[in-house]
Amino acid sequence: METENFCKRLPKIELHAHLNGSLSAASLQKLNCLPKDIVKYQKLINLLPTEKSLEECFSMFKMAHDAVNNKQSVYLATKYVIEDFYNDNVVYLELRTTPRSEENMTKVDYIESVVKAIQDCKESITVKLLLSIDRRHDLKASEQNMELIINMKNQYPHIIKGVDFSGSPLVGSFNSNLFKQAIDNGLLVTLHCGEVKNVEEIKQILQFRPNRIGHGTCIHPNYGGSEEIWELYCTTNIPLECCLTSNVVCGTAKNYETHHLQEWIKNALPFTLSTDDKGVFGTNLSKELRLAVQHLNLTHEDLWKITFDSINYTFATEEEKTILKRILQEWKLTNHF
Ligand SMILES: [Zn+2]
Repeated sequence: METENFCKRLPKIELHAHLNGSLSAASLQKLNCLPKDIVKYQKLINLLPTEKSLEECFSMFKMAHDAVNNKQSVYLATKYVIEDFYNDNVVYLELRTTPRSEENMTKVDYIESVVKAIQDCKESITVKLLLSIDRRHDLKASEQNMELIINMKNQYPHIIKGVDFSGSPLVGSFNSNLFKQAIDNGLLVTLHCGEVKNVEEIKQILQFRPNRIGHGTCIHPNYGGSEEIWELYCTTNIPLECCLTSNVVCGTAKNYETHHLQEWIKNALPFTLSTDDKGVFGTNLSKELRLAVQHLNLTHEDLWKITFDSINYTFATEEEKTILKRILQEWKLTNHF
């Protein structure tokens, strides 16, 4: 089977996708985004990863953010994003988003609208929700958000599975007590880690031992990290959520060939391939897998194995993991590779 077809047809696992950044231009159109903004969004999507500036990416996030500002649009946006992943043969999806309030929508409304859309899609694809703590918020606001997240998790324990730490890596800092509270209340934790050089914070995050980390760009000494934190990372066995195109667009990786994922491949460390913000970065999971074959010399067998192993890194129940493993094994058997 040729690579494009293989990547498209493989039943896939997506573990790092932000709701707003995952909206396609077609979805924004359905959400009544202004026609001139749709044209601009589509034009930016069509640019090559290296042609896009960070400012242009931020303007795309803003367009999506502005189009999703009431209960109905949050519900629809979530449905459209889930449908896109389903159409790309993603069988298990973890969506993440920061609870927000608007004039006619509380944070509880926001979360419930996302949850409702997930519940309405559950026949076709398994979806879990991770709620994010934004780095921009001070400790008091973050504590309030964590309390809300824990309350909502207790109401929807089969859907809300984890908590994420995200936002601009240039502001805010990691607070281990805050995330310990999440763990004590039965939530799993994934943290954006090492997007910029910050040895002290990376060390703190690794010592905290989250269930997964996102990006992990500046951990290895060749990529802005240090021997000490790389050695520490290697002893933890924490799976990395790797987002190739996102890193290239944002300039945290120079290109696909020299991406820091090479160190994970070379050292047989655990990782999963993800999209981050497929709308803004103009990608999808099939494409990310294809890029890993093209630029990092992974084989079809490697992609199957990475996907299969990713099941163990999900925040799904053991029963759901067993079902997902069966889907992957059966697909391998029927596709004879
Ligand atoms: Zn992210």
